[in-house]
Amino acid sequence: MTIEVAIAGSTGSIGTQTLEVLARAGEGYRVVSLSAGRSADLLIRQALEVRPDVVVIGDTAHEAEVRAGLPSSIRVYSGTDAMADCARQADVTVNGIVGFAGLPVTLACLEAGRRLALANKESLIAAGPVVQRARRTPGAELVPVDSEHAAIHMCLRGIDAPADGGPSRVSRLQITASGGPFRGRTIEQLASVSVAEALAHPTWSMGPKITIDSSTLMNKGLEVIEANELFGIPAGDAGVGLSLDDIDVVVHPQSIIHSMVTLTDGATIAQLSTPDMRLPIGYALAYPDRSNTPFGAIDWTSPDLFGNGTLTFELPDRRAFPCLDLAFAAARLAGTAPAWLNASNELAVAAFLQGRIGWTDIARINQSVLERHDGGTAESLDDVLAADHEARVRADELLKQLR
Ligand code: MG
Repeated sequence: MTIEVAIAGSTGSIGTQTLEVLARAGEGYRVVSLSAGRSADLLIRQALEVRPDVVVIGDTAHEAEVRAGLPSSIRVYSGTDAMADCARQADVTVNGIVGFAGLPVTLACLEAGRRLALANKESLIAAGPVVQRARRTPGAELVPVDSEHAAIHMCLRGIDAPADGGPSRVSRLQITASGGPFRGRTIEQLASVSVAEALAHPTWSMGPKITIDSSTLMNKGLEVIEANELFGIPAGDAGVGLSLDDIDVVVHPQSIIHSMVTLTDGATIAQLSTPDMRLPIGYALAYPDRSNTPFGAIDWTSPDLFGNGTLTFELPDRRAFPCLDLAFAAARLAGTAPAWLNASNELAVAAFLQGRIGWTDIARINQSVLERHDGGTAESLDDVLAADHEARVRADELLKQLR
């Protein structure tokens, strides 16, 4: 049986690595569609290589250019609706779009009862209740591609639910964090860090937005909200019924343990591999089977295992990295608060990358926007879109004041 794959955000870090995984896997998969925001040149090269049925460029201005670069046997469309259409038709869609812009693909895929390999955490975080409803569509399946959540997903599969249908035997989740490039620095030292320093991640090679989020620990905060959405739902409904208070963040600079699950009997189960996103991508593509192509496998016979054979753990510095607790606060406020925080953070990170604000201003703006949250609820997609818009307006005002 051939699994038909749609790749949304094919020219980004997750998209290009998905194509590597599929090339190595060989038979068993067929890429039926590729979509990307605006990188027309790379999109054309990818399409000439894998020959999908459909190619979508998000930015309508590039549609003619993409069409001219491809044979007429490949159908070319543009715009967000066309991207969402692709996600309705494939067996599995890898959503590697960056930011809130990934939401239409997430919803279209789940509402069509298909499998979603989700790397776009922002859509789940900002639109939690709406995505949860879509997740209940018969046939819909959400497999996380975030390395921490894929790790927890793998650990949970090894734990049988109680035979009597009683409460889950999972007592806590431990999400690991590398600590990013600024681990160990004080607030004072962090006031003057540059964009280049923030982009120099010690263990993971990722796109710029998530790399900056890793430097502020906002990525970890967003991952706590993501874990709460993915696994906080009741046991038997793909979750384990835990709450935010049952999620720990553990700094583990070597990025070998990708997350852990602690059981009611005291045992902790972990997933280990070297940092390589192709492992969680391959996992989500092959699910519920396991891939035959290894990525990130540890050589346990190597003389320089993990550098010096040591794995270390420490608590996060919540004072130097306030974004972590802002995410917990947004998750507790619930409703559209996570959407507000996510929108504010997207604008603040973009402004930092453009050199318009300092690194510490990212947390400052996020905190100010979250303090202004209007208590809105996220019942519908319209609520979420309106909240995202409102928070962007607030963040933009604050950015203008800072300059
Ligand atoms: Mg992650």
